[in-house]
Amino acid sequence: MVVTRFAPSPTGFLHIGGARTALFNWLYARGRGGRFLLRIEDTDRERSTPEATTAILQGLRWLGLDWDGEPVSQAARANRHAEVARQLLADGKAYKCFSTQDEIATFREQARAEGRSTLFRSPWRDADPADHPDAPYAIRIKAPQGGETVIRDRVQGDVTIRNDQLDDMVLLRSDGTPVYMLAVVVDDRDMGVTHVIRGDDHLNNAARQMMIYDAMGWDVPVWAHIPLIHGPDGKKLSKRHGALGAQEYQAMGYPAAGMRNYLARLGWSHGDDEFFTDAQARAWFDLDGIGKSPARFDLKKLENLSGQHIAIGDDAALRHELQAYLAAAGQPALTETQGDDIERAMYCLKDRARTFPELLEKAEFVLTERPIRPDEKAQKALQSVSDGILDELTPQLQNASWTRDSLEEVMASFAAAKDTKFGKLAGPLRAALAGRAVTPSVYDMMLVLGRDETLARLEDAAN
Ligand code: GLU
Repeated sequence: MVVTRFAPSPTGFLHIGGARTALFNWLYARGRGGRFLLRIEDTDRERSTPEATTAILQGLRWLGLDWDGEPVSQAARANRHAEVARQLLADGKAYKCFSTQDEIATFREQARAEGRSTLFRSPWRDADPADHPDAPYAIRIKAPQGGETVIRDRVQGDVTIRNDQLDDMVLLRSDGTPVYMLAVVVDDRDMGVTHVIRGDDHLNNAARQMMIYDAMGWDVPVWAHIPLIHGPDGKKLSKRHGALGAQEYQAMGYPAAGMRNYLARLGWSHGDDEFFTDAQARAWFDLDGIGKSPARFDLKKLENLSGQHIAIGDDAALRHELQAYLAAAGQPALTETQGDDIERAMYCLKDRARTFPELLEKAEFVLTERPIRPDEKAQKALQSVSDGILDELTPQLQNASWTRDSLEEVMASFAAAKDTKFGKLAGPLRAALAGRAVTPSVYDMMLVLGRDETLARLEDAAN
């Protein structure tokens, strides 16, 4: 079974790049009936905070990236990591190194001065245990001497590292704490991870992690190191390109489905498909479609995809997500009645709204109550028709049956009788019904508002 994981370090919010990594792992597992696990890499006690963990989990929840089981805390597994280091020591794959920090620093200085490699070669690798002092020691792995290490990466291809560039990495520090590199390998192994999909800033780590897999005689997982995300100018994504926190996009009003679609396209492609549903993404996602060059962040594309996802959204689900957006944006929640009204109107609000703020703007006609206060543009529109024309329309509507067809009929014959076109009346009608120029169609507003409310608004406007 396929098992993937997302392994964030809890030092801040869920970064857009982290969200994409999580999404790729989630899609890969979910599309194959596999498991998607979460591991919080909280071994750096100084930089890790519980608030950051909460923020990351919230971001994943917003994006709908559900994980299997409980999140694993890496720090809580330190004993297990140490156990593996001791096992390697017992197996002769690692050794006790008694070199002190000072000795190592002196070695490096000398090497630098003499223009030699500064990779520390411990004199204890081949020392006789009988000569070991009674002093604190670190456990170091015996790095392969000579030859090459090849990382078979599903995105980068075969990446070859000369083994003389690898040092005898410390596994367990002299204070008994395991190093991060060991923790990652042991955790991935114990969690049964089969595929590691992560940023290519970890590619160098893979070579060192491979030493541990090999020494333990464990199979290495499938590796896929994905290129980082760049800004539109081709430089590494940074604050000046826009928001970096995934959840900031929720507060800006992008729907989670649009964000998922957009993030999936950041570095992965499936032919010419830009817009796709979650089900399609799960079915299509594959490591072969991941590009080798950095993806570029493009807000226009996000807007476009978001609009398409809002348009196909389920009305009740959109109402729910709209409420979550308002909370994220720090705005007052919709009342039950407002929510009901919006849900009823949703069918005519959701096309052509790229974000929730745009959708809310179109919903203004159901949210505001009489008397409607027309904005400047709407006022102009009302003044553009001759006095009394809305008054004359009212009795016609009074008797019409309240369906789109008959409303269209009434309007057409009214316009003909007045020697004008419906198009000329639409502006003033929008103004009367919504008090603004950007609204759903006049007929949709009439149908959503109902006869009484429509007539009352027309009468208000006529006076
Ligand atoms: N904790 C690492 C990070 O946040 C990820 C390590 C990994 O995926 O192996 O960058």
